Amino acid sequence: MIKNMLFSRAYPSYMIFFVTAKCNMKCQHCFYWQEINSLNPELDLGEIGKISHSLPNLFFLRITGGEPFLRGDLEEIVGCFYRNSSVRRVGISTNGSLNERTVKFANDIAGRFPGLQIEIGISIDHLYEKHDAIRCSPGAFKNAMGTYDNLLAVKKKYPNLTLGFLVTLMKDNQDSLEDIFKYLQEKKPDGIGLNIIRGKPKDAAQIEVDIGKYDKFRHLLNQYNFASPSKRSFMQRLRIAKTILSQDAIISMVKNNRAQLECLAGERIAVLYPDGNVCACELLGDRIGNIRDYGYDFKKLWKAESRKKITQNIRGNKCFCTHECFITADLIFSLKGMLKVFFKTLFNRHKKN
Ligand code: SF4
Ligand code: SF4
Repeated sequence: MIKNMLFSRAYPSYMIFFVTAKCNMKCQHCFYWQEINSLNPELDLGEIGKISHSLPNLFFLRITGGEPFLRGDLEEIVGCFYRNSSVRRVGISTNGSLNERTVKFANDIAGRFPGLQIEIGISIDHLYEKHDAIRCSPGAFKNAMGTYDNLLAVKKKYPNLTLGFLVTLMKDNQDSLEDIFKYLQEKKPDGIGLNIIRGKPKDAAQIEVDIGKYDKFRHLLNQYNFASPSKRSFMQRLRIAKTILSQDAIISMVKNNRAQLECLAGERIAVLYPDGNVCACELLGDRIGNIRDYGYDFKKLWKAESRKKITQNIRGNKCFCTHECFITADLIFSLKGMLKVFFKTLFNRHKKN
């Protein structure tokens, strides 16, 4: 795994998998809104199984969409990657609308695979009807909290289940972040994550965010995330250090309008879409190819000339953005990044940030 993290270039180590483009919401800040309910045919379980065989040492799998829990076979999808890709950490982002389905999944997966760390993050953008308005979905907030409460009961049975919230900073919530935080911390999640709105959202005005408000909010979140008893192991402190460094990079990037890290999109991280298209990153949209045309083999696709051209352009242009997943990959898959995280963990243990 260490070798794969540092040296292997034969296939990606970190994959973002949009398991479906189907969604039951129409959020204002969605960067994927043009594809929602439109990509067909989606990869089926047999195809996904073959893909998982071609990624024998996957470090981390992030499952997103669309709404991932709309897929009735999500348990089997995760099972494929657990068995065939040796993945031991899977993160799933959800809008929290499908209460029973999500609870059934959590019970099944956490019980069946005790060696798998499964992280479910429920997206919360605001409180009560303001959250519903952002999501264009009446009752969304109540449903999401109901799902969270039911998942808490599952978590008590299975320590390998981590449960958190994910807040996306946007124009319509940036003046209410403290209230949102106060509410969420009362629910005692394992962690509260923070994203900045990205891409070309359905409501373009949402992109106007104040980085000073991001900075203030991340301190609140980090104090909570750091103080949580479950965050005191060395591994957890590594993750906190990585999060803080990633936030520092985002703030410097926005303030100075230039890259802070070398982006490893298309080298250590890949994006797999529901129709089999594979891109280096979510934002540029440059397609490496369709995994169906490469016999579902990531190693073959990774040798494609298109990938080399895309990654050369990314490096040559010193591309930068605030996408948290890619910044994480930049930190954990480069020796320089890993050393930064390591020393931050050692020497900043008791500092505020
Ligand atoms: S942000 Fe997520 S929940 Fe909202 S429309 Fe987009 S995919 Fe669906
Ligand atoms: S910096 Fe951002 S936009 Fe550029 S390639 Fe990396 S992830 Fe994509």
